[in-house]
Amino acid sequence: MCVFCKIINNEIGSYKIYEDEKILAFLDISQLTIGHTLVIPKKHYETILDLDSETSKEIFDLVRKLSLKIVKATGAKGVNIINNNNEIAGQAVNHFHIHIIPRYNTQEFSFNTNPNKLTEEEFIELANKINN
Ligand code: AMP
Ligand code: ZN
Repeated sequence: MCVFCKIINNEIGSYKIYEDEKILAFLDISQLTIGHTLVIPKKHYETILDLDSETSKEIFDLVRKLSLKIVKATGAKGVNIINNNNEIAGQAVNHFHIHIIPRYNTQEFSFNTNPNKLTEEEFIELANKINN
């Protein structure tokens, strides 16, 4: 059984922020910033690629509501919503989860890497490839 399923079953403790029949939210043990929270479905889906539409809607609406609550409670100036899928994308726990990371300053971390420089033709080709 995965570590998040154990948290759901109360076999491992957690600091719960929200719970209903289908969804659980709790503080990340490694607080990237103060208030860093994870939102998970109680059913074990591995990634967003496995999720069903209804669960996905419910989770994202809860992410929105909890973000508001967390921002109000912490006085954060912004929030990052992050979701890693599969090891290549940095997923360490293979139970689908969304990170809510309140932001207090720009130095905490950044997404600035080296973006690919595409020509207009390449953009059009890429958009068409995804759309078809
Ligand atoms: P990810 O890299 O997206 O898979 O993130 C997994 C997250 O789960 C990390 O931020 C961990 O700190 C967090 N985590 C792992 N074990 C626990 C736990 N027992 N309680 C709370 N958070 C955990
Ligand atoms: Zn699980």
